Amino acid sequence: SRLFEVMEVASSLSLLTGVAFLQSLRGVVPSSNAIVASGAPKRTLVVLGSGWGAISIIKNIDTSLYNVVVVSPRDHFLFTPMLPSCTVGTLRLTSITEPLVSLLQDKLSPTAIHQAECSSIDSKAKKLVIRGTTTANKDVETELPYDDMVIAIGATNQYFGLKGVKEHGCFLKEAEDAKKIFTKVSDTLEQVRFNKNLTPEERSRLLHFTVVGGGPTGMEFAAEMRDYIDGDVRRMFPELYKEVRITLIEAAPKVLPMFSKQLVQYTQNLFKDIRINIMTEALVKDVNEKELIIQKTNADGSKTIENIPYGLLVWAAGITARDLTRQLMSSIPEQSGARRGLIIDEFFRVKGMPDVYAIGDCAFSGLPATAQVAHQQGDWLAANLNRSGKATALKHRLEVMEKQLGEKKAEKEFSVMKQELANTQLKPFQYKHQGALAYVGHDKAIADLNVPYLNKVLSLHGTWGNTFWRLAYLNELVSGRSQFLVLFDWLKARLFGRFDAKI
Ligand code: FAD
Repeated sequence: SRLFEVMEVASSLSLLTGVAFLQSLRGVVPSSNAIVASGAPKRTLVVLGSGWGAISIIKNIDTSLYNVVVVSPRDHFLFTPMLPSCTVGTLRLTSITEPLVSLLQDKLSPTAIHQAECSSIDSKAKKLVIRGTTTANKDVETELPYDDMVIAIGATNQYFGLKGVKEHGCFLKEAEDAKKIFTKVSDTLEQVRFNKNLTPEERSRLLHFTVVGGGPTGMEFAAEMRDYIDGDVRRMFPELYKEVRITLIEAAPKVLPMFSKQLVQYTQNLFKDIRINIMTEALVKDVNEKELIIQKTNADGSKTIENIPYGLLVWAAGITARDLTRQLMSSIPEQSGARRGLIIDEFFRVKGMPDVYAIGDCAFSGLPATAQVAHQQGDWLAANLNRSGKATALKHRLEVMEKQLGEKKAEKEFSVMKQELANTQLKPFQYKHQGALAYVGHDKAIADLNVPYLNKVLSLHGTWGNTFWRLAYLNELVSGRSQFLVLFDWLKARLFGRFDAKI
């Protein structure tokens, strides 16, 4: 394991004193006493996470004002909207992941990345504890100081305490999840092809691919799976392809709640045509190795229990707060009453934690838990942090000039700087909803787009929707490298199929 590898990106300032094991590593923890060109003390900004919220901070923060320290168990950014495409090999994981090193390469020194997770935060002492594994597979823990901190640790999978989900199912949140699903599907197809002793019931069970959750993630997974079955599996396993069934299970009465009625209807019709079975009002009560036990609400309001045999279970039924978020919510008095995430104000300041901010899925802002929200919050917070960093530098310069020259002698410079200082006022966050997009299979996608100057929502579906979906996501990818690789993967899947050697 390469976890807890501390990586020096640029310079080599002094290490945390007195922490023996860290001294042997190549990394740096920037000192908060470093002096920037303005002469003001440079603050150390710790960013927790490397997801949608965190990368907006990392990309936009002015490193001439802050020493940036990133702490995340993941050494890369993952473009989650395209993760369902990786479960069947349409895209490769390397195409939609971006190493943190390359995101930080053009940043000024000192900037450090700790591949570790934060296990606790002491906001009074302004310290955090990080935990990771050395190259020798040893668990290690250490403390880091901070001046300012952004918590952008996202959320974890919600499985409502159903242990069977964790034991037998697959989630769809991280890169490894997509890999696990791909391997499980390939192994199942091979097992069914070669094992001639399977009973018809067992064969039917193994070839039943289920997904729980009728949000965009579950729907997109089902759509990608259908493409894979109708394309590659049809060619490579012609005797099996017709037997594969895909079922999407949703507890609510409808799927895709964030889309307009018209697009939901379009998707339901399309799923019917391409043989994806949607079961709504079906609540999963239990999961064992081979069956889902669901409670179905019938049209007359009565409830029945059904056992659904499955060969693959993908669980995409929502998210819940991570352990660290829960720990903070329960230990800080100002957070009492927090349920879905840390309580923040319109400047993302965490209530009860001075100089600590939270964005994205770990914060409760009343907005949906989406990449769109986390990304915009990160951009906004970075701009505010830059303003406050600039204000500190300007105040420092003013103080120094006042001491050296006196206000009267440098009246002109003073008034210019005071004007600049007035421009560094923090701005409260305003969210701009751009719309919702989802791929729904067979080269079709749906899009509800917010057009502010027309003051209306524009809906696209089918091939137009698909063209828009592709162009929008290509544009959103965080680097030219990812854009090139995704284009290449799409072309490769179309010309030569999705199968790659298992190496
Ligand atoms: P994340 O992006 O989840 O990042 C959290 C980061 O924190 C990770 O790097 C993690 O490793 C790190 N971390 C975790 N614990 C710790 C710790 N203790 N210490 C330090 N670091 C830690 N949204 C959309 O708007 N459009 C879409 O099309 C869309 N599609 C999606 C498809 C899928 C398959 C999934 C899973 C999600 C999708 N989302 C989509 C939702 C979107 O990905 C999330 O809302 C978004 O990632 C939230 O950003 P975040 O920064 O809060 O958290």
